[in-house]
Amino acid sequence: MNELFEIKNLNMYYPVTDGLIGNITGYVYALNNVNLDIYKNEILGLVGESGSGKSTLGSCILKLITPTSGEIFYESENILKKNKKQLKEFRHDAQLIFQNPYMSLNPRMKIREILKEPFIIHGIKDNVDEKIKRIINLTGMQDEVLDRYPHEFSGGQRQRIAIARAIILNPKFIVADEPVSALDVSIQAQIVNLLINLKKHLNLTMLFISHDLSIIKYISDRVAVMYLGEIVETALKDEFFNNHKHPYSQALLDAVPVISQKEKSKKIILNGDLPSPNNLPKGCKFHTRCPYVNEKCKVSMPNLKEISPAHFVRCFLYE
Ligand code: ATP
Ligand code: SF4
Ligand code: MG
Repeated sequence: MNELFEIKNLNMYYPVTDGLIGNITGYVYALNNVNLDIYKNEILGLVGESGSGKSTLGSCILKLITPTSGEIFYESENILKKNKKQLKEFRHDAQLIFQNPYMSLNPRMKIREILKEPFIIHGIKDNVDEKIKRIINLTGMQDEVLDRYPHEFSGGQRQRIAIARAIILNPKFIVADEPVSALDVSIQAQIVNLLINLKKHLNLTMLFISHDLSIIKYISDRVAVMYLGEIVETALKDEFFNNHKHPYSQALLDAVPVISQKEKSKKIILNGDLPSPNNLPKGCKFHTRCPYVNEKCKVSMPNLKEISPAHFVRCFLYE
């Protein structure tokens, strides 16, 4: 396959400071040695509990934050080594769609100005008005929305506008961070379908972050599962949903409601909360909640191992 991104040994530790003097008293280990490829033209679904590091990974990939260590190659060039000018070119190609369309649009700007801004930032002057009309139509809206303000729209329409802004410069890559979780369930499918259509139409590659496995199943070509800042399983979508291996993936899927008593009895119930990322468990990070834990899991860390083509699992049961 053809990689757009290659993420190597990525770590992100947020310093924790004491309130008064600002001394560093510890770290939140949000990403721990993440190795992950993102292939051209795929939608990679990234799933995991709240606090597992999904948004941190998305922000690092877009270099909105600078990771503590590691490498992120975009089209074979390390984005962490890019100078200001190169970074600006990268930002033209790689965009973010936020969770909350209420916060991401400036309430004082008309939609036309919001969509013009990226052209101004990147010094593009050709056919701006035509491009804006084309994109607003592509996102399922009429030209007249351009002369209105964000507060005049519903959540779903605002998210369409936020998506229009993200794709207005014809990017190659989008991080969509929980783009539908703030919307009514009835609107979610429309926005997910819009993203799928845009991906096909514009040849986009997408990192789609969600904690909702039914949406991940619908939209993704491939799935990656995060637990406490580590990737614990990746597989093509059908392989993942039919043949997932990691006990944590099993537990996430088991959290989706089922009807029959027979299926309920096989379920892994996730006991307790996610351990604190300030004080990570030793050994396998899932060992404090795993029903299959043994002594080795408490002291040694399993590696991410390819157990069948393109299916990687981090668990001693498969080493
Ligand atoms: P959610 O599903 O709730 O959005 P997430 O998987 O996106 O969660 P992150 O937001 O990446 O998780 O957070 C990972 C960990 O890093 C969490 O423990 C979080 O509290 C911590 N964290 C995130 N941003 C910061 C920050 N700016 N400073 C300190 N800690 C942070
Ligand atoms: Fe469970 Fe051990 Fe596998 Fe970790 S390595 S997921 S604790 S069986
Ligand atoms: Mg998040």
